[in-house]
Amino acid sequence: MRPALRASLLALLPTLLVGQTPVPAAPPAATAPRPPQFPAGVPGQLMKLIAEQGQQLADLQELVDTIGPRLTGSERMRRAHAWAQAKLTQMGAQNVHEEAWDFGFAWTRGVDQARLLTHNQMPLMIAHNAFTPGFDKPVVGEVLEPADFKLATLQALKGQLKGKILLRAMGARPAPGAPRPAGMPNPQEQDTLNQFLKDEGVLAVLTMSNKQYGLLTTGGRTFREIAKVPVPVATLTQEGFKQLQRLLARKEPVKLELQLGGKLSKAPVKDYNVVGEIRGGEKPEEVVIIGAHMDSWDLSTGANDNGTGTCASLEALRAILASGAKPKRTIRVVLFSGEEQGLLGSKAYAKAHKDELDKVQAVIVDDMGTGRIRGWALQGREDVKAVMASVISPMNDFGLREVSLARMGSTDHASFLPYGVPAFSAQQDAEDYFSHTHHSHVDSFERVQPEALLQGAQALAVTAWELANLEQRLPHKAPEAPREPAR
Ligand SMILES: [Zn+2]
Repeated sequence: MRPALRASLLALLPTLLVGQTPVPAAPPAATAPRPPQFPAGVPGQLMKLIAEQGQQLADLQELVDTIGPRLTGSERMRRAHAWAQAKLTQMGAQNVHEEAWDFGFAWTRGVDQARLLTHNQMPLMIAHNAFTPGFDKPVVGEVLEPADFKLATLQALKGQLKGKILLRAMGARPAPGAPRPAGMPNPQEQDTLNQFLKDEGVLAVLTMSNKQYGLLTTGGRTFREIAKVPVPVATLTQEGFKQLQRLLARKEPVKLELQLGGKLSKAPVKDYNVVGEIRGGEKPEEVVIIGAHMDSWDLSTGANDNGTGTCASLEALRAILASGAKPKRTIRVVLFSGEEQGLLGSKAYAKAHKDELDKVQAVIVDDMGTGRIRGWALQGREDVKAVMASVISPMNDFGLREVSLARMGSTDHASFLPYGVPAFSAQQDAEDYFSHTHHSHVDSFERVQPEALLQGAQALAVTAWELANLEQRLPHKAPEAPREPAR
């Protein structure tokens, strides 16, 4: 700005100030929305304790930032077991312990790299799929994409697969009951197919992430499927995978250099579920189980899947203990492991405790990411809908108000259903769970919403408290034979 002009502007300043528009006054306080009030009694007390003193966020940061990913069977998973037991002991929980179950071979991630050796020579983002074998040193192979991964299709390529890197286009896992996408082998074929790939000397199989924009994902297959794959399997981003497909469509050779450094343990290992509880005052043998899985996939730190459920469960028990209120029935937190490989820890727990399951009042499981808990999916249990609506009524003004008959699978409550136990999964706001964080390399602490985590802890505390103090037992269904053998 020129000096002469600045001087004249300065001379004008008092006039400008005099002429300024007054700042509008704040609207009267009476028109501002009032936050909902905590209800009377123990539920309100629990909600207030969690709102004012809750440690769920600090616990979560500690778990995910200092211990990190918690792959079932891994050393870090063992550290998480010790961490959770220390937390339960510090808060004054009773009967704190871990319960072992047989897992299988543990797996440790190494360095994962891929580079296109032909065409544009680009490095490609890649993640070795856990529990599949790796390489001691980088390898080079030509890329080939079979029409699909059915046994007959691959057998037609017999003799042409040695040293080849196979592309296997495979998106999201089909929903229960949905038809399997074309190109996926049926389960009976899987073992034969795996052996065929090994016998033919296939170098590696590359799959495609189920999320776009450079997100790498892993997991999502059952342990039975992944643990028996005798060749290295890795996942490329959608963008990298589709580039390879386009290059192959040009009918030109495509070669990759691959390093997949993951290693299986020499011997099978055990894994553990962590347990802590507050004993009931009147009916201690009857139990409400608050469940979440503490294991995670390992591309990130498992903050949303399922650090949030783990820490909300711990906080729910902590608040009940801190309130000094004594529930009629026992309230037990069980932090399962092996969920990601097929609900293995909760199946093992249910099997080990099958003779006590008729005394379980209910199992409530929190495992749907960072979103607020809107209610409970009752698995078609019309007969408990009214009582569950009354159970959650103290938190209606805080967003917990849905009792749906939805049937949910793919998390730990499902392991109790074959025994007839009332077992429900939280219905949560999806937020960015399935689009971004779930099983991806950005499932980290920044993607967690602190307010929703707090509400989740309140929802678990209030639901568990009310279930533990109901006059009546929730009716059990006749036990069914488990659809898959528990292990
Ligand atoms: Zn999960």
